[in-house]
Amino acid sequence: MQETAMCWGFECGDGWFDIIDCLCGTIQGYIDINKHKEIRQVTVDQVKEKYGTLRFYTTGGDNITYGMIAFAENMSGRICETCGKPGKWRGKGWFYTACDEHAKDE
Ligand SMILES: [Zn+2]
Repeated sequence: MQETAMCWGFECGDGWFDIIDCLCGTIQGYIDINKHKEIRQVTVDQVKEKYGTLRFYTTGGDNITYGMIAFAENMSGRICETCGKPGKWRGKGWFYTACDEHAKDE
């Protein structure tokens, strides 16, 4: 999590970049100001879209960072995965999150 290089290879749309970027920054900031607590460094194993929302798989962290990740995953269900504009969770059988412009089957 300490280098931005980990931000490559994400298996999701560009519209969620800001969510991921804010999540990375928030987690790292939390770990940096709590060094005395010896929180395990968070490393990202995989970031991808699943059932229409963001999934962020990590190693390390604590209940606080798990909460940050849950927040980001929930937010992704309201932000278009394609363009980043406000959207909603859509689909029947195959789910995705999109704005009206990028909605595919409605
Ligand atoms: Zn869109």
